[in-house]
Amino acid sequence: MRHAGRHFLQIPGPTNVPERILRAMDNPTIDHRGPEFQRLGQAVLAGLKRVFKTSQDVIIFPASGTGAWEAALVNTLSPGDRVLMVETGHFATLWFNMAKRLGLEPVFVPGDWRHGVDPVEVTARLVEDGAHEIKAVMVVHNETSTGVTTRVAEVRKAIDRARHPALFMVDTISSLASIDYCHDEWGVDVTVAGSQKGLMLPPGLSFNAVSEKALAASKSARLPRSYWSWDDMLAGSKSGFFPYTPATNLLYGLREALRMLLEEEGLENVFQRHRRHAEATRCAVRAWNLEIVCLNPAEYSSSLTAVLMPEGHSEIHFRDVVLDRFNMSLGSGLTRLRDKAFRIGHLGDFNDLMLMGTLAGIEMGLELAGVPHQKGGVDAAMAYLGSASETARDRRSKAA
Ligand SMILES: *Cc1c(COP(=O)(O)O)cnc(C)c1O
Repeated sequence: MRHAGRHFLQIPGPTNVPERILRAMDNPTIDHRGPEFQRLGQAVLAGLKRVFKTSQDVIIFPASGTGAWEAALVNTLSPGDRVLMVETGHFATLWFNMAKRLGLEPVFVPGDWRHGVDPVEVTARLVEDGAHEIKAVMVVHNETSTGVTTRVAEVRKAIDRARHPALFMVDTISSLASIDYCHDEWGVDVTVAGSQKGLMLPPGLSFNAVSEKALAASKSARLPRSYWSWDDMLAGSKSGFFPYTPATNLLYGLREALRMLLEEEGLENVFQRHRRHAEATRCAVRAWNLEIVCLNPAEYSSSLTAVLMPEGHSEIHFRDVVLDRFNMSLGSGLTRLRDKAFRIGHLGDFNDLMLMGTLAGIEMGLELAGVPHQKGGVDAAMAYLGSASETARDRRSKAA
């Protein structure tokens, strides 16, 4: 049956693509070796550097985020290399499995799926590795299966404290352009990102931001690589070009997204907007008397909130009811959290009324699905939104 009105896509990626970005993509595909393309290539590469907060190289692949994961590994490592990873959730586990498949020897520190990476544990593991067999530390900034962030700057300090030379790689696929991130300042060697979450684009582009140290490592790394080779990409991108056909129309969309994020709203305001919507969401969850998966408030995600179902209640059934009745997609429970937790995406092109619609759909869905809860989550979120200032600019003008 037809659902009137707009679909609510409240999964933590892909996110809602603004009309403006769709319109920007709706243009003729041009010669990717010509001067018009060159201007496009140079514009998006320069803009992306500002989003990663780096003055070093950024590489764009026509691929989903998984491709950029693979590129990070095959460009920097050799068969049999040890890498240190932490089981923060589903996505960390997928990256770990990829490392195994590619012939690396990942060490996986077990986790409870409710905490980020523990910097103290990282230091301890690296100190044990006196022979420096561990070649890389790989973490997920925002674990999209749990709504838990890792404090990346502190993991950097943990590596430094151990005086260990391992490369540092970070997956920011669901945090870049939603949660503050500083590739250069935090001393990250390879940052992995994707187009379909904070950047508000359709799926199909992914990124590596690369340090000088990672580039140096790539010269002697022996994992086979061809499509993912940084060398070919960097040779072209110095002048705004690509070694093989780029996803031209997605790059039009990226140029528009960068204008919106960097020129019109400003990254710091984007981060503040996400923090505010995340806290409003948590206000609602607490009022419903449901449990947030993330146990440490210092690790709350600004881009999504994962919520545990009361014992004996199915999140799959609950999400089915919400989709059927309100035409809203919520995120599912992944692997260990399957049928145990649902996820509310509040990232990307999102505002107060979209959030209120989302939370109202959840509160009505809880009632319809017979999930035990307290009423008043929507009211609690609304009260918070009313009290919390909107943007960094507002805060500044209030402070002045
Ligand atoms: C979405 C996501 C991925 C997977 O990206 P794809 O684009 O689906 O390949 C990996 N890591 C994290 C943290 C994600 O959120």
